[in-house]
Amino acid sequence: MDGFIFDIDHFATHDGPGIRTVIFLKGCPLNCVWCHSPESQGFMPELLYTASKCAGCGACVEACPQQAHVVSQNTHKLNRSRCEQCGACAAACTRSALKMSGTLRDASSIVSQAAAYRVFYEQSGGGVTISGGEPLAQPAFALEIAKNLHLEGIHTILETSGMGIWADLKKFLPYVDLFYYDLKIFDACRHLQYTGVLPDIIQSNLENLSRQTRQIVIRMPLIPGYTDHEENVEEVYRFMRKLDLRQIHLLPYNASSQAKYAWVGRDYSPGHLEQQTQKALQSLVLLAPKGIEASVITG
Ligand code: SF4
Ligand code: SF4
Repeated sequence: MDGFIFDIDHFATHDGPGIRTVIFLKGCPLNCVWCHSPESQGFMPELLYTASKCAGCGACVEACPQQAHVVSQNTHKLNRSRCEQCGACAAACTRSALKMSGTLRDASSIVSQAAAYRVFYEQSGGGVTISGGEPLAQPAFALEIAKNLHLEGIHTILETSGMGIWADLKKFLPYVDLFYYDLKIFDACRHLQYTGVLPDIIQSNLENLSRQTRQIVIRMPLIPGYTDHEENVEEVYRFMRKLDLRQIHLLPYNASSQAKYAWVGRDYSPGHLEQQTQKALQSLVLLAPKGIEASVITG
């Protein structure tokens, strides 16, 4: 069973308990304006370019069949409108200034790679987190990974936006130890405006999931001006109470993701956003009603 991933991170410590391997599947049906991994959004391999690594050697000019690269006076320019994502320039670039994001991998080889770190999981209470992109966008591939991890006896988290088909999501129940479920904006119009989709499927999938398992942690990215206002956070707490969900991780804004937009040749549309102060984060934690454990997780 093959599928596209864009990264595998070993020794991750912010994507679940203990030391974990995080498998990032490529492609996402949402289009959040603040997305911290713009290279994750497309479903197919995609050329990344980091200007600061470029030595101006011109190897990419020779390699590209589309004449997408120009090097003049040691200055490199990439014309993305010509690019057909063949990857030849990335293979030729010895400085890693060019890189393809998105590799076709076999599920069992990914699990073998992750299982090689078993000793670290066992010593730290860790395991593997299947993330993205959106794992439910490649449901059979993600499920195969989860099944194989389960067979290996490795603690497994599925991190999902919930934007998928319930019939797919419920298949993970026997194989996943914990669900990390993102909630971003409760209001339907604002959700559509800033993520590109309505929240109804996400919310109904969470309702269904909460009837089947208690092993759910809500994850909420706090994006200044988009998701971090009190009314929105309170709506999420209310929804959690309705579903009898007890745990939420509040994820403070991390400005470092803006740099990734240059890699894919896109502008970061929210512009400069101020990171939340500790005081502001604590006030959102304190809004949590009795019975809901809210904590700030800094990545
Ligand atoms: S091959 Fe790499 S280092 Fe050389 S000019 Fe192209 S992008 Fe720059
Ligand atoms: S990925 Fe292929 S088409 Fe695109 S710039 Fe590189 S060599 Fe040219």
